[in-house]
Amino acid sequence: MKKLVVITGASSGFGAQIAKIFSADGYPLLLLGRRLEKLEKVAQGMDNVMLEKVDVTDYAQFEKAIRKAEAKYGKTDLLVNNAGVMLLGNVQNQDPTEWQTMLDTNVMGVLNGTQIVLNDMRERQHGTILNMSSLAGKKTFVNHAAYVASKFGVHGLSETIREESAPKNVRIMMVEPGAAETELLTHVTSKSALTDYEAWKETMGGITLDPKHVAETVKFMYDMPQEVNIREVDIAATKQD
Ligand code: NDP
Repeated sequence: MKKLVVITGASSGFGAQIAKIFSADGYPLLLLGRRLEKLEKVAQGMDNVMLEKVDVTDYAQFEKAIRKAEAKYGKTDLLVNNAGVMLLGNVQNQDPTEWQTMLDTNVMGVLNGTQIVLNDMRERQHGTILNMSSLAGKKTFVNHAAYVASKFGVHGLSETIREESAPKNVRIMMVEPGAAETELLTHVTSKSALTDYEAWKETMGGITLDPKHVAETVKFMYDMPQEVNIREVDIAATKQD
């Protein structure tokens, strides 16, 4: 049997598409998210799939789910740290609890997942952790201050852990997508930030990325031999600036 793939934030958007592409290729999966009913929909028709209700900010819950899947399918060979939130707003008036949610989920969640699988991977000298960053992990965008801070954080921690793990043959990868219309924007509470986003989208002809192409990119990166690490990929709609 193929090796275990763990995907966080698999209940919608990129994570759901990544799950589909790996399942179609015969990988056993552990799919994580807080909404079990959404995970169940994603997993319909899949073989060898385990679903667990996990909040990535809860280390103990996250670890328990991974150990349970590993007891059934063997050690994790790929962890996709994909779960994330983007609550757009202007720092002048945004509720600080929104900053906290983004930093906890987007940064602490990635660190949690990484620590849970990294030691085994280093011991086995095999394994891959792929972190879903963003173009907002490399450049700034208006109304994105705390989100940008979280994704620059992902960028920095991923590269650091990659350097530390390279001698142990463990791959740390990053994907940096541009705008895609998943559920991500549905959690934004700032009306003006959403208006600004719609105006910006018009500058690229209203065309955003199809999540399927992000999933195909993740699969391509993972499918390289363990000795080859595609460290990061930027992928965006061609007309995005
Ligand atoms: P979605 O909102 O569709 O998916 C986000 C996923 O994260 C959901 O499955 C959600 O599941 C999960 N999630 C959120 N918070 C938590 C948490 N605390 N614990 C566990 N799971 C959580 O958005 P996308 O698919 O677009 O986002 C996926 C990743 O891609 C994010 O990291 C995002 O920042 C990044 N990204 C997205 C871009 C875009 O334009 N869409 C562009 C660049 C990067 P549930 O609610 O069930 O817990």
